[in-house]
Amino acid sequence: TELAKIRNFSIVAHIDHGKSTLADRLIQLTSTVADRDMKEQLLDSMDIERERGITIKANTVRLEYTAKDGETYILNLIDTPGHVDFAYEVSRSMRAVEGSLLVVDASQGVEAQTLANVYQAMEADHEIVPVLNKVDLPAAEPARVREQIEDVIGIDASDAVEISAKTGIGVPDVLEAIVTRLPAPKGERDAPLKAMLVDSWYDAYLGVVVLVRVIDGVLKKGDKIKMMATGGLYPVERVGVFRPGMQPINELGPGEMGFLTASIKQVRDTRVGDTITTEKKGTDKPLPGFKPSQPVVFCGLFPVDSAEFEDLRDAIEKLSLNDASFSSEMETSAALGFGFRCGFLGLLHLEVIRDRLEREYGIDLITTAPSVIYHVYLRDGTMLEMHNPADMPDVVKVDRVEEPRIKATILVPDEFLGDVLKLCQDRRGMQLDLTYVGTRAMVVYDLPLSEVVFDFYDRLKSVSKGYASFDYEMIGYAEDQLVKMQVLVNEEPVDALSIMVHRSRAEARGRVMCEKLKELIPQHLFKIPIQAAIGGRVIARETISALRKDVTAKCYGGDATRKRKLLDKQKAGKKKMRQFGRVEIPQEAFINALKMD
Ligand code: GDP
Ligand code: MG
Repeated sequence: TELAKIRNFSIVAHIDHGKSTLADRLIQLTSTVADRDMKEQLLDSMDIERERGITIKANTVRLEYTAKDGETYILNLIDTPGHVDFAYEVSRSMRAVEGSLLVVDASQGVEAQTLANVYQAMEADHEIVPVLNKVDLPAAEPARVREQIEDVIGIDASDAVEISAKTGIGVPDVLEAIVTRLPAPKGERDAPLKAMLVDSWYDAYLGVVVLVRVIDGVLKKGDKIKMMATGGLYPVERVGVFRPGMQPINELGPGEMGFLTASIKQVRDTRVGDTITTEKKGTDKPLPGFKPSQPVVFCGLFPVDSAEFEDLRDAIEKLSLNDASFSSEMETSAALGFGFRCGFLGLLHLEVIRDRLEREYGIDLITTAPSVIYHVYLRDGTMLEMHNPADMPDVVKVDRVEEPRIKATILVPDEFLGDVLKLCQDRRGMQLDLTYVGTRAMVVYDLPLSEVVFDFYDRLKSVSKGYASFDYEMIGYAEDQLVKMQVLVNEEPVDALSIMVHRSRAEARGRVMCEKLKELIPQHLFKIPIQAAIGGRVIARETISALRKDVTAKCYGGDATRKRKLLDKQKAGKKKMRQFGRVEIPQEAFINALKMD
């Protein structure tokens, strides 16, 4: 295809502003999919993505559109993840295209992720077409939102397209705007092959599928390609495009997007952002550097039933095939036995993986306290990158501890501002900025990542009745008074409940944890002390009183069915418990004990 007839673009939006609905509408209008095959949210392919309405992996679809000028254009739409955890995925897929549709819900206005995403588009030098969605809603105020886009983002919104992705009003104008306002890609057909590896995933039938954007040259079946970062050589087996199902074609030329398969065994062999060229007569100039995404949140995953360890190992291996940003290594815990220490891009990523392990593979899991990576500087001058509080060295050996910090941007209606500021303050935040976007406040805070990973987002939603929006980026490490707090159940330390806390918060935190555990751990036939301790010093304590009698005694031995029911119920409850010394702790205790409200 001629370069002048190609447009590559992404859609950026805050969550729920209508990105997926618009993508569906564009697919429908260009008859890429027959009406009878149209189901909602075509591009969100994984079940969990569909259920939660989120996109995790980049997806593309190739549309053919005959414009008002009578010419037929090829439009490549790349759908990018919308959640903060996947910001890195967004930034690199943006580099594969030349323009963006900036979708803003005209009844809501600009939100935190609108800003974060549009800044990424600007960084990638995109031409941006603002699109005001949901104009069918009575609450829509397109004129006000237009002004907001100009004031807050600083781009011209005078020719923003007003649409309803739901009813279809205005959507044809979006297609025209893509053709007339976004630039065509540049590239040289006769130059050596240079293609960007945008994403990759494992397909049960085809093996590893690689999403590519060709910059220069031509990619064909039978080519022997080279991955410039890893040096890997592979013969190309298939080349194709997404419509949105995979459709083989003969070649991908400059400016085009599509996929290749090349008997690549693992997703790990494909580095996102890498440059693909040919083995012979290839380019020697790779695309500008990229950094691989790094896990920032770690936790232990252990099977509730230790007999399921092998199943867990298999399931984790299968999931890693498809997700190079998820890391895992074997871990042994005195209390929990064999399991895995896993790394994630953020809490949502953690939840998605845990859900999949439980639902798709049927494994009941104990999830230990999520932890960030601490930098522990020892007195002997060495530094330990610690992502499990259980590994904290003895205090006498430690010189100082540094923790990762983030810059958080929160947009919130004025009436909830006080509560949001209090929440940030409670989480050891330092206010950096406070400005107004219409009637909403935009607050910028420097916060410890560890205070955010657990339940910050839930708390923020609840104190703002769902109106606050939030985005963050990592800004570096800083020293603070951080100590390891242990929890002892019946005098035995339970490693899975160890956390790093700020010294000033330790007592309060310890008290809450002990109180929660008292509620969460059932009574036993003996008294169970629960203690929180720093070093050898106990800072909080609760006691679970002993159960006086056999529970079945209440049934007076008479009613046999009632007695059996009670025993069955106990057994079912037991299935999800783990034995710690003489005490049984239910599965949900591990996560719930850590919540701070
Ligand atoms: P995404 O998170 O940006 O992908 O947003 P979705 O496309 O999933 O849309 C979020 C919600 O808004 C869904 O319930 C859609 O049905 C709804 N929605 C999307 N576009 C419109 C629109 O133009 N008008 C109205 N009334 N609702 C819309
Ligand atoms: Mg969506």
